[in-house]
Amino acid sequence: MQQTTIERQARCAGIGLHSGKEVGLVLRPAAEDTGILFHLETAAGFRSLAPTPEAVVATGLATSLCRDGLAVGTVEHLLAALRGLGVDNVHVDVSGGEVPILDGSAAPFAALLAEAGLRLQKKPRRFYRLSGPAHCSRGGKSISAEPYAGFRVDYLIDFPHPFIGRQRLTLELTPATFLRVAGARTFGFAGDVAALRASGLALGGSLDNALVLDDRGLLNAGGLRFPDEFVRHKILDFIGDMAVLPLPLTGRFTVICSGHSLNNEFLRQISSAGLLAATDSSRPFQPAPALVRRAPLPVPACAG
Ligand SMILES: [Zn+2]
Repeated sequence: MQQTTIERQARCAGIGLHSGKEVGLVLRPAAEDTGILFHLETAAGFRSLAPTPEAVVATGLATSLCRDGLAVGTVEHLLAALRGLGVDNVHVDVSGGEVPILDGSAAPFAALLAEAGLRLQKKPRRFYRLSGPAHCSRGGKSISAEPYAGFRVDYLIDFPHPFIGRQRLTLELTPATFLRVAGARTFGFAGDVAALRASGLALGGSLDNALVLDDRGLLNAGGLRFPDEFVRHKILDFIGDMAVLPLPLTGRFTVICSGHSLNNEFLRQISSAGLLAATDSSRPFQPAPALVRRAPLPVPACAG
C-alpha cells in the first residue's frame, strides 16, 4: 500500500473551544514521509510542530500539542479524521492557536477531506507494529494492546449517568468504518462546564459543538445522532490520540473507561518500552480515496 496526501488545498474556519474566538485551518498537500505537520501562526510568521506523544500537554478537556513555546489546541478530532481516512502526509496551517471545534465531531473534517480529495504517492505506507503485548491502567481505567495487522478497538465506557450508563463498541478501523464514528460529538456535564469557564477554558463550548448533560438528561434539543454516540466519540478520540505518533499505529486494543490523559500515558509507555517497530506492512487498511469521495456526510461542512 502506498502513502497518500490530499489532492488540493482545503480550508475552514470556526470557533476555538478554549478561546471562544474565530480560528482558521488550511490543509495543504505534502511530500512523501512528511507525516502530519502543523504550522502555527505566530507574530514572527508560521512555525512548524510535528505531533509526538511527548508534545501532548493538556489532556483534561481536549488534546493540545506544545513544544518550545509553540502550542496548538483541540487537535484530536482532526487527527482522527486524517488517520481514520488514511491521509499520511499533510501540512496543517492553524491560525488562532486552536483547531476549530466545529460541531464537536470529526464529520466536518471528513467533509473537508472529501473536498480536498486523496492522492496516492509512490512510496509504501509505513506503520508501527507492536512487538509485544502492552497494558496501562490507572484508577479503574485501562488500555490493553496486542500485535495485530490492522487497528481494532474494543471500547467500554461506564458513566454513572442514566443517559449514558454502560456502552460498548468494537471497531475494525478502515476509511469506511471510520465514518460510523466520525459524526459522534464530544460530551460533557453542565456542572463541569461552569467550572471550566470559571478557569477561562471551554469559552467556545456550546450546545452547537458538544452534547451537554445535566442530572436529568441531555440539554441538546436535537437529541443524539446515535443511541451509543458517547462510546462512538470515545473511539474517535482514541483514534485521534493514537495519531500523535509519527506513523499509523497498528494493534488490537481493549479500552476500558480511558480518556485523553490515559491514552497519552499509554503511548508514552509503549514508546519508552521500545514496543514500537516501524515496518512496511502489507495491507492493514483498505485504500481510501474512493471511499472518501463516496461517503455520505450527514453534517454541514465548515463555515467560511
Ligand atoms: Zn473528542
